[in-house]
Amino acid sequence: MTTAAGVATLESRFATALPELAVAWQAADCPAPRLTVLNEPLAAELGLDPEQLRTDDGVGLLTGTRLPPGANPVAQAYAGHQFGGFTRLGDGRALLLGEVSDRQGRLRDVHLKGSGRTPFARGGDGLAALGPMLREYVVSEAMHALGIPTTRSLAVVATGRDVHRETMLPGAVLTRVASSHLRVGSFQLVQAAGEVDLLRRLADHAIQRHHPAAAADAQPYLAFYRAVVAAQADLVARWMSVGFVHGVMNTDNMTISGETIDYGPCAFLEAFDPATVFSSIDQGGRYAYANQPAAAEWNLARFGEALLPLLDEDPDRAVDLASAALGSFRPAYDDARSRALRAKLGLTGHASAPDALADTLLDLLERSHVDHTSFWRHLATAARGDSGPVRALFLDLEAFDAWLAGWRALGPDPDAMDRVNPLYLPRNHLVEEALAAATEDDLAPLEALLDAVRRPFDERPGLERFAAPAPADFGRYRTFCGT
Ligand code: AMP
Ligand code: MG
Repeated sequence: MTTAAGVATLESRFATALPELAVAWQAADCPAPRLTVLNEPLAAELGLDPEQLRTDDGVGLLTGTRLPPGANPVAQAYAGHQFGGFTRLGDGRALLLGEVSDRQGRLRDVHLKGSGRTPFARGGDGLAALGPMLREYVVSEAMHALGIPTTRSLAVVATGRDVHRETMLPGAVLTRVASSHLRVGSFQLVQAAGEVDLLRRLADHAIQRHHPAAAADAQPYLAFYRAVVAAQADLVARWMSVGFVHGVMNTDNMTISGETIDYGPCAFLEAFDPATVFSSIDQGGRYAYANQPAAAEWNLARFGEALLPLLDEDPDRAVDLASAALGSFRPAYDDARSRALRAKLGLTGHASAPDALADTLLDLLERSHVDHTSFWRHLATAARGDSGPVRALFLDLEAFDAWLAGWRALGPDPDAMDRVNPLYLPRNHLVEEALAAATEDDLAPLEALLDAVRRPFDERPGLERFAAPAPADFGRYRTFCGT
């Protein structure tokens, strides 16, 4: 929806329905705003005119500093288990500007990150640096292109205000678009406060927005819980499939919609190793690659606890219902994971392809430190008759050759493999290179990376370096929170 000036009309559905969870607040001013990247296809999806967004009024919308009449920006309150510990949180440096109806009539949140301190900022400065906001932009766009549910990035605007981290860095605001910002932690906050009526209103709002089929169920809140469990099982299986490590799967970073959210210390696997952790603060490996399904299940158990008052008047019975519903996570995850692996192996037609085939392969990948992304494309080449490139990746060739012969005997479909196994991902060294250049005002590497990852499956000449593993001297990759 747009006004005559082409600027969005922002609705205030969340703030109106759940005022207890919304603090009216204004974005900090931007001394010298400069639009760094604008997502034109997403703007079009939202019914916004990219040319308008490039004007002063448009940049004012993208930074929350010049909003259309009637807009009611709010900081959202929520809680969260952070690395296992419960904390009351909220948007410390973010604002929900409001919602827009997109071209398909879906309601989408327009949200800012890095827009200044709010009452939830605690010790934080409310700001964000340009590098990490561009990182969220590129990784979320890559995830979307991979077909993985995710929040989107509409724009990054450099503010002209420096932010103090280990050094002084250019500041920026990210304009994020999501089907909503409701999180497991939103429910935890309300349940911890003992506000059962508010909890019911929050659940009704979430059902209407994300899982409307639950409303028709004889037990709507139980059906809602099951739907979120199913959405997260599917999401995490998709992450595993492309080697995505979220890095900070706290309950405040787990959505009710089933979209990936909060691209902080995330990164993609290079050499396949289930124990991979990128985040510098995840010292125990709680959110390591292979632990992600268990972490999701743990978060969903906390979500179930938060919903207990809605599930049954009898607390014991409520616990039984929630436990049974949570019990569907593992089978749903295992099923999604096994279907994804069958597709990666080009064996979709083989409902009976043994899981052991995939398990043996993953073990071989780990033992030979094989690059997780390029492996699958080389494997498709082997299905076409040339096993040279894929065999060159293995140290233990004898074991791999035996596996390869068994797999080829099943008649894998290489074209189907290439449709699900990406060539181009935002590999860590490419992201770092693009962000370093962007911080020095050179946007060419970022644009080139975006161009590659937006069509991750289509091999294109000239893009070889985007498909190649990090050079050996890139070293062990570390990512940082508190960005
Ligand atoms: P995150 O780790 O990004 O999910 O953030 C966890 C919490 O810290 C959220 O409540 C954020 O709003 C808050 N936060 C993170 N960085 C800042 C910052 N620079 N200033 C204020 N609050 C922040
Ligand atoms: Mg967060």
